[in-house]
Amino acid sequence: MKAAIYVRISKDSEKKGLGVDRQRKDCLALAERLGWEIVETIVENDQKASDGALRPKYQRMLGMAATRQIEAIIGWDLDRVTRTPSEAEELFEYAKAMGLQLKSHNGDLDLITPQGKLTTRVRTAVSAFEIEQIQARLRSETLQRAQSGRYNGPRPFGYDFATDDHGRILTGSRQELVICEPEAEAIREAVSRVLDGEALWSITKDFNQRGIATTTGGQWHTQTLRRMLMRWTHAGYRKHQRYEKGRFVGKESLYEAAWPAIIDRDTHERVLALLTDPTRRKSRSTEAKYLLTSIALCGACGRYLVGTTSYEYTIKGTYVRKDGTRSPDKVRMYPETYKCPHAGCHAVTRRMDAVDELVEATVVAFLEREGVEAFGGDPAAVVAAQARFEAIEAKLALLTDQWVGDKITDAQYERGTALLRPELESEKARLRQALPVDGLREFTGTGAGAAWKRADVVTKKRVLRALGDMVGLTITIAPVGAGASSRLDADRYAGIRIETVGRDAGQ
Ligand SMILES: [Zn+2]
Repeated sequence: MKAAIYVRISKDSEKKGLGVDRQRKDCLALAERLGWEIVETIVENDQKASDGALRPKYQRMLGMAATRQIEAIIGWDLDRVTRTPSEAEELFEYAKAMGLQLKSHNGDLDLITPQGKLTTRVRTAVSAFEIEQIQARLRSETLQRAQSGRYNGPRPFGYDFATDDHGRILTGSRQELVICEPEAEAIREAVSRVLDGEALWSITKDFNQRGIATTTGGQWHTQTLRRMLMRWTHAGYRKHQRYEKGRFVGKESLYEAAWPAIIDRDTHERVLALLTDPTRRKSRSTEAKYLLTSIALCGACGRYLVGTTSYEYTIKGTYVRKDGTRSPDKVRMYPETYKCPHAGCHAVTRRMDAVDELVEATVVAFLEREGVEAFGGDPAAVVAAQARFEAIEAKLALLTDQWVGDKITDAQYERGTALLRPELESEKARLRQALPVDGLREFTGTGAGAAWKRADVVTKKRVLRALGDMVGLTITIAPVGAGASSRLDADRYAGIRIETVGRDAGQ
């Protein structure tokens, strides 16, 4: 049977013709199944369904039927072929008179049997059905957009839609995402804070206090922040999964996006690994977990480094490269690191085991040689100051818990901390004056190595801080290499500086 394929696109957004290709492909597949010969493919592009404009190509096609050049018409669905129920009625009458067969890719167009004809007419009037058609059309469009790396959906946090010279947002195939720098910086900051082990609620609270708003201008909640951070968009990837009847079905695929990334893929995978880890600690800080967190300094910006956890992350082989091939599963290991978490820097990322190794060996050697001299003081005063110091710290912790649990207001919390903080500082100063305690004495002389080995991280940190106070010990890690991975591969001890005031710590 000689047939024509009739393809019509009604939305401006399809000017590029992606929608046309999809319709044509599906119709060709149907023709092949039916064994029909396609005489011509008629493309009516960029027509509005509602304005009643003439469709010259449609009219010509009906003329072809009258002259028996074609005996059938194939369309994607009824809505593509006719624009209104009355047009559909006209077409059915015409088809009956000419002996013309009508078929559609999705099966709603069938004038061969009386039953098919009845169904076709009934369906024309049922709006729910039309909605399904729209959804099916959108589904195949969405997939195409994904495959070509184009964005689909409302404005994502971190990006703006590109505008033309007159400030109008480009739409349709010209739609483009460009980085919105203040929001991008907020993403980078949130990402490093999450990787440093900070809880989402704490970042949420901070963002809201600083007036960093969501794309709808609202406040962040822990869940919205979490969802935002888990999006592949800002890693430069487009995720696609079929969405049917209110849920996602089938396999998830990733496509390289056409827009610029805000964070790299490695970093994003680490965020995903952390946020989806069921054993994720809800701790407020990793301060007490790693030896040099809040002690070692960034060699680039001079601020404190933080420790990050190690983990393993399996990347499922779902990356679809531009050439259409899929990548195999990969397992990545991320070691524990010290890194600079500060916005605008991030210059340092170093393997924790190497840094700790060098610092511990150097510090123990120094303690053995000069510890007695470094630590001399008034033990009784230290014990008293220590007790007062810890009592104030406990009060502060209680206050924070009440605030987190919404038992006290922000104002009450601030009043409380405003009272306690100066007290804490003055006790801290008294404590420093009186150092060292008996607890530190064992870290001097020949017993230093053994004492260090026995000590827990909290105690070791206390020793390092005491050395900072007494002899001006500083530990600075200079940036080495360019990317995060080359930094980790760098010469084990490169750029690690351990110094005391006026002398070298024994390197
Ligand atoms: Zn830094």
